[in-house]
Amino acid sequence: MTKGLSIKETQLMLVHVAQQLVKNEDYLTEIDEKIGDGDHGIGMAMGFSAVAEGLPKMELTSIEAVFQAVGTILLDTMGGASGVLFGTLFVSGTIGQEQHGELTTDILATILKGALMALKERGKAKAGDKTMIDALEPAVKVLDSSRERALSSSLLEAAKEAAKGVEKTKEMEAKFGRAKYYGRQGIGHQDPGATSVGIIFSGMSEWVMNQSVKG
Ligand code: ADP
Ligand code: MG
Repeated sequence: MTKGLSIKETQLMLVHVAQQLVKNEDYLTEIDEKIGDGDHGIGMAMGFSAVAEGLPKMELTSIEAVFQAVGTILLDTMGGASGVLFGTLFVSGTIGQEQHGELTTDILATILKGALMALKERGKAKAGDKTMIDALEPAVKVLDSSRERALSSSLLEAAKEAAKGVEKTKEMEAKFGRAKYYGRQGIGHQDPGATSVGIIFSGMSEWVMNQSVKG
């Protein structure tokens, strides 16, 4: 088994992810203005600035507890449809799972595969419906099929697949959320929630890459 991230490092990685989402507030809002109600950036920035602020101070005893803490902060601070969706993304894959002290590709795959299943069950969206699922599913597939690989290489590939998934949402007609009301007019525009998932994966990959360069 390749060496993974410690609990503290996992917290720092997710703080970096949170900072990237906050930084992209205007970009995410712009995208949501085209096919939604323009609140996606605001909601994400609200939730993830609370994560960036609160997570570093928390004393947590497992990797699963770190993901749970992030999800709980999002559920408490974001509200709205995407609060539940992004809260679920971080919380639901950890419930009832064995606790681990190190984040490897294997553990991340288990957590995010559980989250993907829960999101699909809760939101009813499937691949091709122009939602966050279109970025999440291909990224999770990479992690699930590279469980023995180092996080730096599996996350790099997962982030690439997530980005491809975001691109593909441009061609899709939305079946869920407010974008549904735009119908075919939404074609040509990428999905905001998928864009956020893309930022989450590129943020994780970036942070891990940076560490392996330093280490
Ligand atoms: P709201 O729709 O309440 O304005 P946001 O604008 O923050 O919330 O988020 C919209 C995003 O939520 C969409 O871009 C899409 O990715 C995601 N989304 C909406 N409905 C669903 C669903 N049923 N399943 C999965 N993701 C969804
Ligand atoms: Mg919106």
